Amino acid sequence: MNESTHRALRESLGWLALGRVDDAERARIEAHLDGCTACRAELADLQATTRRLELVDVDRLEELPAPPADLGDRVIAAALRSGSPRRRTGWLVAAAAAVVLGLGGVGGWLLRPVPATVAVPLELVAVTSNDDAVRASAELIPHTWGVEIQLTATGFSSGERYTVEVLSADGTRPGAGAFIGVGERSMHCNLNSPVLRSDATGFRVLDDSGAVVVSSSF
Ligand SMILES: [Zn+2]
Repeated sequence: MNESTHRALRESLGWLALGRVDDAERARIEAHLDGCTACRAELADLQATTRRLELVDVDRLEELPAPPADLGDRVIAAALRSGSPRRRTGWLVAAAAAVVLGLGGVGGWLLRPVPATVAVPLELVAVTSNDDAVRASAELIPHTWGVEIQLTATGFSSGERYTVEVLSADGTRPGAGAFIGVGERSMHCNLNSPVLRSDATGFRVLDDSGAVVVSSSF
């Protein structure tokens, strides 16, 4: 087998790994594999690659942004420029797998833009504690459906039940949830209320007897 025939055969290994060769081609490649350690090693590598590609959740691909239309060509061009036949075949199998999967380009999928973290507008609000043991701070998030209060505190009596009310400009005090005190351990509690930010004037935390333990006006 001369050099160029051997190279062509090695490049067929990618298609074999993907199961995209006919029986005659498979027989021809397998006959060569019997006597060529290098090609057997290459095939094992490629099969490992295709197994990883099989882990791609095809049903979720539609959620991913489309890669540039020419990406597949660019991957193949880069692969052909690469000096190492081993690397080149690896890229080719990735490009071929991309075609099989309808991805347009595995490179594009791997390099897909990751959405930037959405900044949450946090409003630090003043908190007054009526219990010396309780230390609390709170931040407020204005949502379209109401306000969320993120309460961070220590010192609420362990095992005691507390309820939270958000105060509204119209005088109502809708409940915003409840929690159980955990003593000196730090707790972080997200409390949701249907009062819109424009109507919300404060919140308070009541103990089991209805006494106000913590209050905040904003
Ligand atoms: Zn070989």
